[in-house]
Amino acid sequence: MSLKNYCFDGSQKLSLHKLPHDSKKDNVNKETILAKTAKNEQEISLLQDKLYADGKEGLLIVLQAMDAAGKDSTVKHVMTGVNPQGIDVYSFKQPSKEEMSHDFLWRVNKALPARGKIGLLNRSYYEDVLVVKVHNLYKTYNMAERCLEDKAFFEKRYRHISNYEEYLYDSSYRIVKIFLNVSKDAQKKRFLERINDKEKNWKFSSSDLSERALWDDYQEAYEDAINSTASKHAPWYVLPADQKWYTRYLVSEAILKTLKEIDPQYPKLPDEQAALLQKSKEALDKE
Ligand code: AMP
Ligand code: MG
Repeated sequence: MSLKNYCFDGSQKLSLHKLPHDSKKDNVNKETILAKTAKNEQEISLLQDKLYADGKEGLLIVLQAMDAAGKDSTVKHVMTGVNPQGIDVYSFKQPSKEEMSHDFLWRVNKALPARGKIGLLNRSYYEDVLVVKVHNLYKTYNMAERCLEDKAFFEKRYRHISNYEEYLYDSSYRIVKIFLNVSKDAQKKRFLERINDKEKNWKFSSSDLSERALWDDYQEAYEDAINSTASKHAPWYVLPADQKWYTRYLVSEAILKTLKEIDPQYPKLPDEQAALLQKSKEALDKE
């Protein structure tokens, strides 16, 4: 199975329960995958340098997942080899009072990378159709009644998100959305590791268990959100996340594919400046 089978761009419907959490079905060799990942990371690093120099397009990577699916370690991995100057990482937490008093996309715009950069969103505006949907948080929002009609609320949000992503695409951004598809069993194992290992205790919070209890609701919310917002210009990658070495490979494939599509180029100097460069070279040679 290749990256294509995990890609949802609106042309096929996602049934989350049918997708694998690990590499078994793909019948791959771990050593080969590790080597391919290293090669991909090198290529990403070269292309990122060009993306930055070119400054024509920006790349937005949206990372979503259940707890302990590996978001943080994916962020670390994506960062290896890339020039920190060219990447902005932003983590979306519970909205602050100030953020709550604005529209839900307000804080996203502030987190957007400049063109030429990669913006990595660790959680994102999708929380506004995930945690907010599972817990019906919108019912407590201080907003006009007409905005809070039960049935229409999330349908409208999906539409707003799709329109926003189209707007970003038309503003010279590419968007790659990644859902780390961890299994409930693997989450349990990782939670226990966090509890048993003192150095990992800080990663665990008791609210992780209450969210786990809502597993099925979250799966449904993810499936709805993905199916409602998958598009050619902002595809979702639903990646198996029980084996981190395999997840990292697929993440590197998705990012590399998009960077290749952007095909950034080093700027070519205008003739005048090229002539000046030649003169400088001659002056230095004469020294
Ligand atoms: P963590 O990523 O573990 O640091 O947790 C961040 C928490 O913030 C998660 O529980 C998210 O569900 C929550 N969060 C992020 N965005 C929102 C939002 N728009 N509304 C409510 N909770 C949110
Ligand atoms: Mg957490």
